[in-house]
Amino acid sequence: MNAVGKGAGAMQSGASDSALIAIVAARSQYQRIHPEVPLTKLVIYTTTQTHSLGVKAGLVLGLPVRILEVKAEDNFSLRGETLRIALEEDEKLGMKPFVLVATVGTTSSGAIDNLPEIQKIVENHPDLWVHVDAAWAGVALSCPEYREKCHLKAINEFASSFCTNFHKWGLVNLDASALWVRNRKSLTEALNVTPPFLRTKHGDDETVDDYRNRHLGLSRRFRSLKLWFVLRSFGAEGFRKHIRKSISLSQIFVDCVAESDKLALVTSPSFAMSVFRLDPKRGPNQPAYSLETLNALNELLYRRLSSRHDILLTQTVLNGVFCIRMVVGATRTTPAHVQQAFELLEKEAELTLEAWEKK
Ligand SMILES: *Cc1c(COP(=O)(O)O)cnc(C)c1O
Repeated sequence: MNAVGKGAGAMQSGASDSALIAIVAARSQYQRIHPEVPLTKLVIYTTTQTHSLGVKAGLVLGLPVRILEVKAEDNFSLRGETLRIALEEDEKLGMKPFVLVATVGTTSSGAIDNLPEIQKIVENHPDLWVHVDAAWAGVALSCPEYREKCHLKAINEFASSFCTNFHKWGLVNLDASALWVRNRKSLTEALNVTPPFLRTKHGDDETVDDYRNRHLGLSRRFRSLKLWFVLRSFGAEGFRKHIRKSISLSQIFVDCVAESDKLALVTSPSFAMSVFRLDPKRGPNQPAYSLETLNALNELLYRRLSSRHDILLTQTVLNGVFCIRMVVGATRTTPAHVQQAFELLEKEAELTLEAWEKK
């Protein structure tokens, strides 16, 4: 993203702040180019799988959010065609979509939006700022073998801003979210407010970069120092080793689920995350469970899991399907832990089915 040397970034408190700031920058840029467009016409684009930060940014900024649909058969990834149709519809209505929050590694299922297709559509809509939220999965870009899957080429070629959190899978304690924008001026032009008490000789001479103009707060928390220490102690290779280890541990779980006659994956595993549910194999003479029954069964299973203190998994709903998410990411996780988690889930699945039969 820095091919022309205009890019810059700043550490933020989280991906939500990063997205909010990117959207503020996108809005000011749009308003500078189109001063005639009233604010009431502006629209933020997200998908049904975008983190709630998209809707929250809309709330904070008082702007409408249009939530684009994604399909299970696309693994919940946003397709270029969906974006194209939405842009054309809004154009007819006189609305002005000015930013799209795309995701590399969605929260619910680790989906990756189809950035190469989105790039083609954006060629005809150069005013659309594309913010890439890679809060969780972005650190996988440290490994060359995951760069294609994460669409690094498209990100470098066309994304307007990019964010990844080092405080999730990136070994840094909360908080450390890295935001990068293609053109640093877009940030400072949106956020530069300089009262007399903040003026300095160096600021006036423009010989320093005032980072306070790259985020909301004025004070800075030395987050980069935490990241520096992590990189110094693990090294780039150690950092990659951590990512690769998480993914291979997750694969143990995926393989166990593939063998299970009770549990099944709901969508393709993504990096070190897999989304599964209780979906018992049925015999030839047994009728298949309906979606309602499976959802009820899984809610029951999830309630059982939540009351335990030796495992913590989160739930989600993917296009109407209730599911459970399993993620590996801690440094001390071993194959034995993953195996233990799977066995515990099998046992709880069995007890859930027993309880269900007795109802
Ligand atoms: C975790 C996550 C977020 C939220 O991150 P915060 O730093 O807590 O704001 C946003 N987007 C994605 C894809 C996430 O995984």
